[in-house]
Amino acid sequence: MQERILVVEDEESIARGLKGDLELEGYSVDVMTDGDEALSRILEQTYDLLLLDIMLPGIDGYEICREVRKRGISVPIICLTAKTQEAEIILGLDLGADDYITKPFSPRELRARIRANLRKHNTGENQISRFGDFKLNTTRMELTHNGTLIQLTPTEFKLLAAFVTHPGIVLTRDQLLDEVWGSDVFLSDRVVDTNIAYLRKKLAAHDSQARHYIKTIRGAGYRFDEQLADLS
Ligand code: CA
Repeated sequence: MQERILVVEDEESIARGLKGDLELEGYSVDVMTDGDEALSRILEQTYDLLLLDIMLPGIDGYEICREVRKRGISVPIICLTAKTQEAEIILGLDLGADDYITKPFSPRELRARIRANLRKHNTGENQISRFGDFKLNTTRMELTHNGTLIQLTPTEFKLLAAFVTHPGIVLTRDQLLDEVWGSDVFLSDRVVDTNIAYLRKKLAAHDSQARHYIKTIRGAGYRFDEQLADLS
């Protein structure tokens, strides 16, 4: 299937060049020149990759990155940046871009980066688990519910990931302490209970049934069961 790329670039000559070049490579290419319009388009259509200029009319490329990731969209993003300052590049990557290329760039280098990012994305380096309407991306450490990002602490995230990757299996408090906090840390079991309470509350805020996904197994520990949610 033809892979779809969205080029967001306000300099027409660059945009035109990119479109022609990438179409020759066999991609289907759309071009947008305005930041706000590009974001609306990204939210309503599916692309396999975004090539994103930073300085744009409307919202800038950084803001687009931030909004796209906030909504749990994991499309690969390559920033086209005229800036060589490291800080600018790091900001883009922090906001969720996968890669960047500095203008002026060689078409060959860009094509190689596009192929590499598509490959990386398609081979599933993003580990994604789904339960109910939730989606857990353990690569990005993101939990979303119907596309809405849920704010978890790193501890809550690791705890949830431990459960989701061991569905239907009772995990003892000791196992959870080892898995989430590390085996060289000595903590009370209570810290597990407290964090599970927080986690249940955050899940339930988006889906009331989800509070029952993590079951307390008396005298043993906890078990993650998405299936039995409505029997509790
Ligand atoms: Ca620009």
